[in-house]
Amino acid sequence: MGGLATALALAKHGFRHIDVFESASNLGFVGAGIQLAPNMARILDRLGVWKDIEREAVQLRDTTIRQGSTDEVLGHVDLAYVEATYKYPHMVGHRSSLAESMYDGCKREKAVNFFWSTAASDVQSFGPKPSFTAIPRKGGEPYTVQCDVLFAADGVKSVIRDQMLRLKNVNAKIIDTGQAAYRIMLRREELENDPELLELIEKDSVTRWIGEKRHIIAYPVSNKQIYNLSTTQPDVNFAAAPSATYTTKGSKPEMMQVFGDYCPKIRRMLDLVPDGEVCEWKLRVHEPLPFWVCEQTALVGDACHPTLPHLAQGAAQAIEDGAVIAVVLSKLPEITPQAINKALRVYEKVRMQRAYALVEMAAASGRAMHLGEGAAKAERDRQFAALKNGKGPVPDKWADADVQKVIYGTDVMQVAEEDFDSIYASLE
Ligand SMILES: Cc1cc2nc3c(=O)[nH]c(=O)nc-3n(C[C@H](O)[C@H](O)[C@H](O)COP(=O)(O)OP(=O)(O)OC[C@H]3O[C@@H](n4cnc5c(N)ncnc54)[C@H](O)[C@@H]3O)c2cc1C
Repeated sequence: MGGLATALALAKHGFRHIDVFESASNLGFVGAGIQLAPNMARILDRLGVWKDIEREAVQLRDTTIRQGSTDEVLGHVDLAYVEATYKYPHMVGHRSSLAESMYDGCKREKAVNFFWSTAASDVQSFGPKPSFTAIPRKGGEPYTVQCDVLFAADGVKSVIRDQMLRLKNVNAKIIDTGQAAYRIMLRREELENDPELLELIEKDSVTRWIGEKRHIIAYPVSNKQIYNLSTTQPDVNFAAAPSATYTTKGSKPEMMQVFGDYCPKIRRMLDLVPDGEVCEWKLRVHEPLPFWVCEQTALVGDACHPTLPHLAQGAAQAIEDGAVIAVVLSKLPEITPQAINKALRVYEKVRMQRAYALVEMAAASGRAMHLGEGAAKAERDRQFAALKNGKGPVPDKWADADVQKVIYGTDVMQVAEEDFDSIYASLE
């Protein structure tokens, strides 16, 4: 997401030679839904790809938070005001539609070249002319790539981040969140004979069923042809696994057991997942980094601010990174390695505090969703109940109007445009 957005944004800002190296042979694992928040939509619209995504996406009218065990409504938030306030509605879509639309946008740009099945490996130099070893995965000799600016959008397991941290003697680590996620997509025809499930896919709504240490979030995608579920539960399967393992085929009986005390409607949906097709993801984050830039190399997206998914902002924040990078580089007063480094540090200044604030908010929202019996849960449920009588804080933070004001109400491209000169001038 971050790599595609950066390439597309740079091309749209007039950069003429952008090479994208991707270790996978194609767009990769995209079998999941994704929330398309207005701050993401605004940028994608400017990059000319939002209309394609919007065509298949589902516009949300509301969100309901329910007790997982009983299906009882705890809280409800009408989301109609989002479009009126931020010019873009809150939508949900298929990850492949987001990735493919950005990829198609890149393909329309002569400047962007893709090198599939090619992994970026050892960084030989972070600048003034960054260079790294590219390893073709389908045969062929490794070769050196040299460039003016290098962006590492290589995800939570970023190898370039690790090399950058080693060079600078910084000891920041991957954090095990203790949480894992099942990701499930049910086809409309699988739900059609069950009126309760059909009702779910028909609604323009996000539903979150919560319980102690676990929840399920679900919404329709692909013009309501698919119902997407994403769960969070304590990680028991990955805890002892080698650190390279981030996804695995999960066990269906285990999944049924994890949500065994959830309401029958949920269990009927989980039961529709064929044996052998349960997919479980490990949810990991990384300690905040003191810097994202080294010489003429910068980190992007999950490589520098991986997050828990509870605020639905990970991809949106990676896309914000790409958009800000294009703005700051297009404002370079001179084309020298020093100027490039300073512009990248403007990117870091515009983005870092915001990205890390949202990482923390996502974790806090997860903690609130996963509370067990006690005073804190009683207060949370009182806040949910109070929503029936008007506005108030929403413990499920992505749906909270004040949180949305911070996330959707900030146009990071505009901030970068407006603040570039003063931040640039303040840097040595
Ligand atoms: C359960 C779950 C639900 C989520 N829901 C949402 C949501 O609703 N909304 C939202 O905005 N975000 C969501 N996210 C977060 C979002 O998926 C990530 O934050 C986003 O994909 C990060 O983008 P990225 O480009 O930084 O990294 P990735 O998407 O991980 O991309 C990294 C890419 O780099 C490639 N790569 C890795 N190493 C190398 C290498 N050495 N050389 C070349 N290529 C390499 C990988 O193959 C991959 O294609 C969710 C995440 C999870 C786990």
